[in-house]
Amino acid sequence: MADKRDYYEVLGIAKGATDADIKKAYRKLAKKYHPDANPGNKEAEEKFKEISEAYEVLSDPQKRQTYDQFGHAAFSGGGGGGAGGFGGFSGGVDMGDIFESFFGGSGFGDIFGGGGRSRRNGPEQGSNLLYNLTITFEEAVFGCKKEITFPHEESCPDCKGTGAKPGTHPESCKRCGGSGQVRETKQTMFGMMSNVRVCPECQGSGKTIKDKCPKCSGKGRVNVNKKIIVDVPKGINDEQKIRKKGLGDAGRNGGPAGDLIIAIHVKPHKKFVRRNYDIYLDYTISMIQATLGGEVKIPTIDGEETYTVKPGTQPDTVIKLKNKGVFNLRNENIRGDQIVTLKVEIPTKLTEKQKNLLREFSGEQADKSKGFFDKVKDAFKE
Ligand SMILES: [Zn+2]
Ligand SMILES: [Zn+2]
Repeated sequence: MADKRDYYEVLGIAKGATDADIKKAYRKLAKKYHPDANPGNKEAEEKFKEISEAYEVLSDPQKRQTYDQFGHAAFSGGGGGGAGGFGGFSGGVDMGDIFESFFGGSGFGDIFGGGGRSRRNGPEQGSNLLYNLTITFEEAVFGCKKEITFPHEESCPDCKGTGAKPGTHPESCKRCGGSGQVRETKQTMFGMMSNVRVCPECQGSGKTIKDKCPKCSGKGRVNVNKKIIVDVPKGINDEQKIRKKGLGDAGRNGGPAGDLIIAIHVKPHKKFVRRNYDIYLDYTISMIQATLGGEVKIPTIDGEETYTVKPGTQPDTVIKLKNKGVFNLRNENIRGDQIVTLKVEIPTKLTEKQKNLLREFSGEQADKSKGFFDKVKDAFKE
């Protein structure tokens, strides 16, 4: 599933291809790779499945829009209407018109012989949808509420998903008696052959609709732009996902809706780096601060924190600011730490006076007189 080819690439068309282009490309390829034309050729069968799936999505304006926005992820999980044969499509699109036209109508059903393309009669879960949500480093640490809008399929409110005009009801299909399948017995050169296939009358749904619901044109589902507020919890990390049950596409035949999967992407911070629940920072102090000690203000995610540098602090000394890290996702009373590496800046531009003092210092290290250090401090303040 992970290595799925781009649907446009599969059909050999450009992203902006027209509906006619899509149909044309599909017909050409379907003819070439059709199992009837390549009996027993596994590769052709795979190819045929791939192009049929690509066509199913790109020929439906709503599905195409969803695909353009979310890619393959939009159709993964949930849906998968297929059981064997040429199944594996997420079901739904009526390919009848295409097949009918190039197989002259008559023998078209046989393509799907032996259980072929399944339009399952039973309840089917709707597709899961993926939404990519980018948040800032701070929003991940402290949590946030985000309003998002995404397209999904809902059960049609007018017909309650039946596809029948309000006030009317779908009827059991007369051809198959509601089973969605028909059995055919044919005389062949090997004798009488019995074959079960999807009912051509109802396309396997087991129902026929006399008066289609005008709102959904009989599909039972409508495309809706849904707006929700996502509560992003404190402590969430990059690449983690939030699942919203039932906010994917509506199910079919009374099946449950799919889920909406929100994938979190956290923008890198200019200063801080997160590792698990700790925040890492390199903080530069001056040579004088390192040598003599002093107060510094270290940035943290909560604001500046006053810290007293010890005299004689060595370069790359690591200090820990307790509870200044990220809130634990599972228990917000627990927080990580901020780990600070103290970098020491060696001055490159010194005045003559400063240089002389340092020369004096290197010669008089034994002299611990307080007056000397005060002089150094003053000299570097200038
Ligand atoms: Zn409807
Ligand atoms: Zn039927």
